[in-house]
Amino acid sequence: MGNTASGHLNWPGLIEAYRSYLPVSDSTPVVTLQEGNTPLIPAPAIAKRIGRGVRVLVKYDGLNPTGSFKDRGMTMAISKAKEAGAKAVICASTGNTSASAAAYARRGGMRAFVLIPDGYVALGKLAQALLYGAEVLAIQGNFDQALGIVREMASNYPVTLVNSVNPYRLEGQKTAAFELVDSLGDAPDWLCIPVGNAGNITAYWMGFCQYHQDRKCDRLPVMMGFQAAGASPLVTGEVVTHPETIATAIRIGNPASWEKAIAVQQASQGKFNSVTDAEILEAYRLLASEEGIFCEPASAASVAGLLKVKDQVPTGATVVCVLTGNGLKDPDTAIQHSNNQFKQGIEPTISAVATAMGLNE
Ligand SMILES: *Cc1c(COP(=O)(O)O)cnc(C)c1O
Repeated sequence: MGNTASGHLNWPGLIEAYRSYLPVSDSTPVVTLQEGNTPLIPAPAIAKRIGRGVRVLVKYDGLNPTGSFKDRGMTMAISKAKEAGAKAVICASTGNTSASAAAYARRGGMRAFVLIPDGYVALGKLAQALLYGAEVLAIQGNFDQALGIVREMASNYPVTLVNSVNPYRLEGQKTAAFELVDSLGDAPDWLCIPVGNAGNITAYWMGFCQYHQDRKCDRLPVMMGFQAAGASPLVTGEVVTHPETIATAIRIGNPASWEKAIAVQQASQGKFNSVTDAEILEAYRLLASEEGIFCEPASAASVAGLLKVKDQVPTGATVVCVLTGNGLKDPDTAIQHSNNQFKQGIEPTISAVATAMGLNE
């Protein structure tokens, strides 16, 4: 597979592409939207800010079918739920899991129940969950509370849990690491990744380790996890009871994969760092206005983090930043925090437009 033209045109979705690495059999009904095979795009403007021959690329997982990396895990979780005969799935979500669960569950002919923190889900994500036909339940609490509830629900009612505590989610998500190695010919030196519930950092590491064991790559990356300063339990070592950040996708105070993420950090000799909302927004604008890449605020945490610790990057290293979600998910933040403005109320004439353009001096 990888990045050949024919591989691209015939991409069958990640379960078929990486079948031998995934817990599926011939009797698994594959529910797919042809997720995966997302672009790995050079980011020269970011690299220039670091210098010293460092190469920076972004893995733009916001180009998955529902606009986030959650689709990688969801194709697996929903296929396995269907195989087991499930009629309904449930999840707690900061938004993207709900959109993805809704799309894949409906495609697989199942009901999707999603619990979201009332008032803290970006507009595009809510729109998706509704239109896909999820049964959306907004609770007056945060993500951590919602996750606690759905975990109980799944053990007491006939609904399958599809949060990343479902092991099939991580199995699907690890394929992003395979794609990086297939594209680069080896693992990157550093992987920079936003961390919320800590499933994705765990999944990437699983993928790199499996490929390394199979000698598909010679090295393993240093895993650099970045959290928002107002929701950084892995940095401080303490549960955050009231997490706060503009990056709602990582507004999580008690990550479900906490121990696994610490194990990844230690095994890879990586680090957890936090970035402020201001730093996240700076990277968000930089990615859009200098690289032409529109990601959501949580995703920009990986680039904000890289720039924050840029002096620690080894000279000449290859660094991949994971852009977990699409910028179109959260138009409110884009409009509120753009440094740009548009000119309104212009008369519909050539001279008025030319004047507005500054051409009629
Ligand atoms: C879910 C999500 C994250 C966090 O991933 P975890 O596996 O929870 O650490 C980051 N960014 C976006 C856009 C997400 O949807």
